[in-house]
Amino acid sequence: MTTVTYKRVVLKLSGEALAGTQGYGIDPIVVDLIAKEIKEVKSYGLDIAIVVGGGNIWRGLAGSAKGMDRATADYMGMLATVMNALALQDALEHCGVDSRVQSAINMQQVAEPYIRRRAIRHMEKGRVVIFAAGTGNPYFSTDTAAALRAAEIEADVILMAKKNADGVYDSDPRYNPEAKKFKELDHIEILMRGLGVMDSTATSLCMDNKIPILVFSIDEPGNILKAALGKDIGTIVGGEKSDS
Ligand code: UDP
Repeated sequence: MTTVTYKRVVLKLSGEALAGTQGYGIDPIVVDLIAKEIKEVKSYGLDIAIVVGGGNIWRGLAGSAKGMDRATADYMGMLATVMNALALQDALEHCGVDSRVQSAINMQQVAEPYIRRRAIRHMEKGRVVIFAAGTGNPYFSTDTAAALRAAEIEADVILMAKKNADGVYDSDPRYNPEAKKFKELDHIEILMRGLGVMDSTATSLCMDNKIPILVFSIDEPGNILKAALGKDIGTIVGGEKSDS
């Protein structure tokens, strides 16, 4: 079994992960469970920063497909991520984990502005940092924000927590019962095969900066800790090759 040791991780939580069974909005019970798992990760002394998505509330592309201005719709999506970040911070506080939300769009009443050095300092002091509002720019995704922040804070890996998927497959397992799951693959293969792990901007950024991505299922309790401890779950993209 492969075990990799990470010191600093970026956890990418899609908005969907906070929604629970209803598939939209924020389910505080689900958010509490995630917060408890993050607390466990902290107990191992790892630095952890979280990038939250917003798809459980609003996606820019969906708005623009219905005639909205794309940039406006994207800003709405970024604001949605701030709501998720605050929900997560609240849950972390409830279980005794110190955290700070840093937003890429300034809103000083609710979150700190994104300041790289300060984010690193928070982690050094044992705080969880939650990065909200994506990259702060329309036409990007929170996957790209995760890649960007991971590069900036020199994280060892992006832990890409997925709902309804336990890794990367060569085709969509929902429609193809023969779909094959990869144990490991390279960033370039995601781009060349057009695999739907993360968008191409995010994948390229990870590839250029040699940031591995561990894609795993968040549906199974305990998986965030397993992923953070480098256990052999999901699919590792651009990581060290195992001997097998
Ligand atoms: N978004 C954006 N720029 C960013 C990050 C996010 O414009 O840097 C917008 C975009 O409209 C996106 C929405 O915020 O659809 C929610 O983010 P995302 O779709 O990445 O969330 P997830 O799928 O992870 O829940």
